[in-house]
Amino acid sequence: MHPDLHSHHSIVIVGGGFAGALTAMKLLDRTEVPLSITILEPREELGRGVAYSTTEAVHLVNGPAATFSLHPEDPDHLVHWLAYNASRYGWTLPADIAASFPPRHLYGSYVRDELSRAIAQARAGSTLRHIRSSASELIAAPHKVRIKTSDGELIEADEVALALGVFQPNPAPQEAPVASHPAFAASPWDAAALDRMMEAGEILLIGSSLSMVDAVASMESRGFRGRYHVISRRGQFIEDRRDAEPARDFLAERPSPTTARALLSIVKTERRALAAAGKDWQGLPVAIRPHILTLWQKAEDVERLRFARHLRAFWDVTAHRAAPDSYRAVTQAIADGRLRHQTARLLAMTPANSLIAATLKTRADVETRSFGGIIDCRGHQLHDWRRISDPFVRSLLDSGEVRPHSTGFGIDATIEGDVISEEGRIHRNISAIGHPLRGVAWESSSITEQRAQAIALADRILGKLTPLALAAS
Ligand SMILES: Cc1cc2nc3c(=O)[nH]c(=O)nc-3n(C[C@H](O)[C@H](O)[C@H](O)COP(=O)(O)OP(=O)(O)OC[C@H]3O[C@@H](n4cnc5c(N)ncnc54)[C@H](O)[C@@H]3O)c2cc1C
Repeated sequence: MHPDLHSHHSIVIVGGGFAGALTAMKLLDRTEVPLSITILEPREELGRGVAYSTTEAVHLVNGPAATFSLHPEDPDHLVHWLAYNASRYGWTLPADIAASFPPRHLYGSYVRDELSRAIAQARAGSTLRHIRSSASELIAAPHKVRIKTSDGELIEADEVALALGVFQPNPAPQEAPVASHPAFAASPWDAAALDRMMEAGEILLIGSSLSMVDAVASMESRGFRGRYHVISRRGQFIEDRRDAEPARDFLAERPSPTTARALLSIVKTERRALAAAGKDWQGLPVAIRPHILTLWQKAEDVERLRFARHLRAFWDVTAHRAAPDSYRAVTQAIADGRLRHQTARLLAMTPANSLIAATLKTRADVETRSFGGIIDCRGHQLHDWRRISDPFVRSLLDSGEVRPHSTGFGIDATIEGDVISEEGRIHRNISAIGHPLRGVAWESSSITEQRAQAIALADRILGKLTPLALAAS
């Protein structure tokens, strides 16, 4: 080995949630040369992020274990890990592990344990350091990138990967009057707030997607016996994930549609054909998903925005379906006459002693009703970087090293994830993974998408590290 190969190539990963931890794992598993990896992540444990930090056993991953191995070349890896480890973490193994939907907290333990395994087995003396701090500033240069932490430390690296996840929107103006009211929960994952609602007669759930399922499953597991009033603006209501036969690859049979309207028309035709054949529409997302990146890439911004404005709500309840076990809490509450869904928009919330009065606009009316609890189940996802108030995001944009994507979703980058500056310069040593690439790829947040991105990113970084390149650095 060339003597210079002993100098470690340094990589800073900003954000140690799922995407950041997985990128580090793939780098450690695949490198032939010594790496010095630093993850900046304020959370105590790496790999969990928002999704896999919840400790409630009824919050489940939204796909079967057979689909969520961290190693696509070993699809049974998660199933085997569960078989050996789940009982250690207090989960009773189901008869069919591959078809089961494990708790998200357990999945986070899987990611964390796999990262520990990768660190222990790291080749070539590679190391991983977790700094429990946030990045506050990035200073780019052609050969080195510097990152300032919120604790004032300055870290220099050959490569930086931005794995920042998704940001919470600022509270809606309607929330301000009740933000500190004991009957209000700004998120369905606030266990203490949910505990306080146990005696409520009726709870208002704002949003009807996966977060609503988490909220109902949490309340039912606590023994709540009151009623739920679920509202959504477009009248969509999430369904559980069924084991549907995948639809045929109908998008491959014709030139790609380039407008949102044309795509909708093709999908509607296919859906009608499935219905006529007595088949489940849930076969559709499996057939559509592999084409999303190409469809998104080929579409003009105006069509992308049309899709986001008019079809996103429909796509979200088509693509994202709930784990059957947690969804059972929803169907049971509906069967008991305790859960009602209404198409309505929340106009205002005001404290009314121990209750909260909510003003709802339905298609026909405006009505004000009091609730013993209100849970914001909108999913807390702000993708528009121009509206994110996080100081690091602001600093990245203000410095001009990063620019918002032209659609407003996430940031501009090449299809591989190399970040593009305000002037249009491609940073070859700053990349992004996951949610920041929403505008580049549209679907960039699920386990399977981020798994593919992490492998590609690790390979791209390692591909630059030929012995000569490393010797020169
Ligand atoms: C509640 C929920 C449930 C989900 N369930 C599923 C599921 O079942 N299946 C599925 O496929 N997908 C699911 N998802 C999608 C999910 O987005 C991904 O699976 C994955 O967790 C996203 O990982 P990430 O690393 O992009 O974001 P995160 O895991 O959220 O990680 C981002 C991290 O960046 C850190 N960070 C942010 N700014 C800074 C900074 N300036 N400095 C340092 N660190 C910073 C944050 O602290 C955070 O930990 C779910 C998402 C949510 C929100």
